[in-house]
Amino acid sequence: MTAPSEEFRCEFADREDLIAYLKAQFPEAAARDDRVSPIRGGRRAADAAMKRLDPVDYAASRNYLSGTVTRLSPYLRYGVVGMAELRDAILHRAGRKGVATKLLNELGWRDYFQRRYAQIGNGVWQDQGRLGTGYAPDEYGEELPEDIATGTTGLACIDAFSVQLRTIGYLHNHARLWLAAYLVHWRRVRWQTGARWFLGHLLDGDPASNNLNWQWVAGALGHRPYVFTRENLEQYIEGAYCAGCPLYGRCPFEGSHADHAARLFRPEPGLPTGGAR
Ligand SMILES: Cc1cc2nc3c(=O)[nH]c(=O)nc-3n(C[C@H](O)[C@H](O)[C@H](O)COP(=O)(O)OP(=O)(O)OC[C@H]3O[C@@H](n4cnc5c(N)ncnc54)[C@H](O)[C@@H]3O)c2cc1C
Repeated sequence: MTAPSEEFRCEFADREDLIAYLKAQFPEAAARDDRVSPIRGGRRAADAAMKRLDPVDYAASRNYLSGTVTRLSPYLRYGVVGMAELRDAILHRAGRKGVATKLLNELGWRDYFQRRYAQIGNGVWQDQGRLGTGYAPDEYGEELPEDIATGTTGLACIDAFSVQLRTIGYLHNHARLWLAAYLVHWRRVRWQTGARWFLGHLLDGDPASNNLNWQWVAGALGHRPYVFTRENLEQYIEGAYCAGCPLYGRCPFEGSHADHAARLFRPEPGLPTGGAR
């Protein structure tokens, strides 16, 4: 990417002015893909998201695509909001002790991954353990399949997540897990390929949280590769995709965790599967 030609401007007449300026400053990026996410950057947008914090509802609904998640990750990523600041805001909103545990735990994952990244640096691109799938790294494909990249697999859920990734730059945690598991386990593509794809589009994309989560899905971090079932997905999408999916009832996610483990992984004595979060 070409370096910007001058000092960055900080004042803009409006959002259109800002977008035009950035496209001019980064012509190679704009030529690759010049869609602009509807998500607003900046402190004002971050403050609005902080005002909506609801730790109680979060704990009850976090796993649902429509759940009360904070959507603060892009602001954390670029330091618009600090970790300690967010922790204090969460505790303040919670009021009572214990109520904020779930949300604070999730924030703890970010902290843990950042610390691990500080220790291993580019090691986040290398398997942190033996893949728990029974396959060797060189048995996975290198290329991102075109139908996944373009959202044309025919699977309504996967295609929608692919489009959201590219047009919005944000995905709910569960959508990230499902998309990652589909790529790595159902299509047997290296997790690094998926991690690079995500980093190219996510507004919150960072090598620590991104790569280490991909490793967790792949079974290289911790002992269990992550797989899911159609039933599991349907519960948390609340009817959003499955009902209108042309592959409903015969999609690759039909079956139990044990069925998927038997189909997708090489049998190994004592290999447990089906991580869930
Ligand atoms: C394959 C995959 C790739 C991911 N890539 C990234 C990434 O590049 N950048 C990134 O910030 N997160 C990443 N995550 C973690 C998580 O999905 C996002 O942090 C979260 O969905 C952001 O939305 P939110 O702010 O609404 O989260 P909330 O659910 O509201 O959580 C609050 C904050 O806690 C932290 N957090 C929550 N879940 C996780 C988690 N599983 N791991 C680490 N931190 C977490 C985030 O900082 C988040 O903003 C990835 C997860 C997966 C499965």
